[in-house]
Amino acid sequence: MAADLTGTTAVVTGGNNGIGRALAVGLAKAGADVAIWARNAERNAQTVAEIETFGVKALGVSCDVTDEQAVIAAMDETVATLGPLGCFVANSGISIETPIVDMSFDTWRHVLATNLDGAFLCTREAARRFVDQGVGGSMIVVSSTISRYGGAGMAAYGASKTGVLGLGRTLAVELARHRVRCNVLVPGWTKTAMNEHLQADERFVRATSGRTPVRRWAEPEEFHDIAAFLADPSLTFHTGNEVIVDGGYTIY
Ligand code: NDP
Repeated sequence: MAADLTGTTAVVTGGNNGIGRALAVGLAKAGADVAIWARNAERNAQTVAEIETFGVKALGVSCDVTDEQAVIAAMDETVATLGPLGCFVANSGISIETPIVDMSFDTWRHVLATNLDGAFLCTREAARRFVDQGVGGSMIVVSSTISRYGGAGMAAYGASKTGVLGLGRTLAVELARHRVRCNVLVPGWTKTAMNEHLQADERFVRATSGRTPVRRWAEPEEFHDIAAFLADPSLTFHTGNEVIVDGGYTIY
């Protein structure tokens, strides 16, 4: 049976596109009120309109997850508008692929700032709320199969996503006594804006699909129900887990 999240306030960072948007829609379908935190106000508004079609409340918050004060303000606005936090999904991310010999320190720092610093700032703010509220909650951080296997040109991205994995596991350990569960979502190759340039490379798509048992990349919509599943409050013993959604890529 699908989770009933009616009355739950959920946040999805980077929820205005790709995998985050799918997770946000899935949470709304399960009855949660959903806040989207991302920078592009127009895409935030489009996603809010889509979420509202499920009869729940939705909020778009213009927020750069690398900006500490913006993250704090986003949490204040979310809780003031939608009510106490029940589920937090740290999904925002970018990828810039460059061979390490050519990778500038600025590129390294930009990717780490968004993917790892951003995840830290957001989950720290969520953890503070959950601890203050004292009634538990669910946290999900979004890593990547690249955290396990690496990938050419992905030194910064891979390092950031392995960092996110460690962050998620640590949150599971630290927050368990507050009845806050934290799980790590590990997507495989998925057709989103982040990797449009890779999708255009037929050889690359053939090679990565060929290594995947289902022989293709995922559509973002295939992530619809995962966050809602993990946020189900009845999953009281489900924490510190890696939920791999990759068409079987990590079997090999
Ligand atoms: P998209 O490019 O479709 O979405 C990325 C989202 O992150 C957007 O909503 C974007 O919104 C937001 N974002 C980026 N930078 C910031 C920032 N500084 N502050 C706030 N929000 C930000 O990519 P995906 O859906 O593919 O990626 C979502 C997550 O999934 C990422 O963490 C990615 O690493 C992970 N992932 C993706 C895979 C794939 O194959 N697509 C595979 C494995 C993991 P805006 O620009 O409006 O701020």
